[in-house]
Amino acid sequence: MSENHHKVIIIGSGPAGLTAALYNARANLNPVVFEGLQPGGQLTITTEVENYPGFEHGIQGPELMDIMRKQAQRFGAQTFFKQVTKVDFSKRPFVIEAGKEVYTADAVIISTGATAKWLGIPSEEKYMGYGVSACATCDGFFFKNQKVIVIGGGDSAMEEANYLTKFASEVLVVHRREEFRASKIMEERAKKNPKIKFALNKVVKEILGEEENGRKKVTGAILEDTRDGSTEKVEVDGIFLAIGHKPNTDLFKGQLEMDETGYLIVKGASTYTNVDGVFAAGDVADHVYRQAVTAAGMGCKAAIDAERWLADKGIE
Ligand code: NAP
Repeated sequence: MSENHHKVIIIGSGPAGLTAALYNARANLNPVVFEGLQPGGQLTITTEVENYPGFEHGIQGPELMDIMRKQAQRFGAQTFFKQVTKVDFSKRPFVIEAGKEVYTADAVIISTGATAKWLGIPSEEKYMGYGVSACATCDGFFFKNQKVIVIGGGDSAMEEANYLTKFASEVLVVHRREEFRASKIMEERAKKNPKIKFALNKVVKEILGEEENGRKKVTGAILEDTRDGSTEKVEVDGIFLAIGHKPNTDLFKGQLEMDETGYLIVKGASTYTNVDGVFAAGDVADHVYRQAVTAAGMGCKAAIDAERWLADKGIE
């Protein structure tokens, strides 16, 4: 085998990928991790993480991911800042390309995660990071006693709206329909919160802002009624997107089984995909829990599944 051959290649470097790397490294499988465009994954755009067990006083997201990476490296995992551009799971060993470099692997663990969805309007891009955010947990703190919008009608929107009332003076939930997609309990909780108001059958058409001392800031939004097209202007200081996530699975289309929204399908409680020897872990295969700790747990399962599968093939 060439020097670009590895027993296990892990694609993605969030909690799932780095936990898989730790376990496979401790099993002497010398795993290689391709870290992708966002090394460390979604937690690197978070600030304080207070719900990862073992850190009694919380930890910064980027720091947690640095620790996970170093812990895996300590046992021999190699991590590369490379973006996988193509895979071929029809061949054995599997073929993985990162730009012009070609690698092969006996087993592959996919932990490419998911990415928050955006509206796709120019003003959203203009004010991203200056009042427009897709992460209430990361940025809510900056909106003390201010007015914010949360866009969406699912569980995330309800959860984020409730969370934001800890800081904001008022949270306006803007949803494009009359009915919510959120579970009843989450919807009721949001409706009972006196700081949360609702703008139903409305979409954010444009985000308004200005520049003050060279720094951009959001000042409002134009809402459009989805029934009659009428518009109104509301004054707000922040806009939070909670319109769902997209799994990062474009690379695997036509090769791995996915559900209708693109999440990888695993068999039962395992991490086996439909291709023997390819495993999936974390948000890429889990749209329900989406927590760092559940992703890490699934990464551990994928590493054990891969190790046992390789042992069955006589690769140890
Ligand atoms: P989701 O259930 O897919 O909801 C997305 C919401 O955004 C929907 O209301 C959708 O409207 C709206 N939306 C989508 N694209 C839009 C656009 N371009 N413009 C305006 N609105 C748009 O996503 P989610 O809320 O992130 O939840 C994902 C999964 O995680 C769900 O299974 C959820 O139950 C779970 N989750 C659970 C919890 C919890 O239990 N604590 C917390 C968060 C998430 P429509 O309804 O009209 O399609």
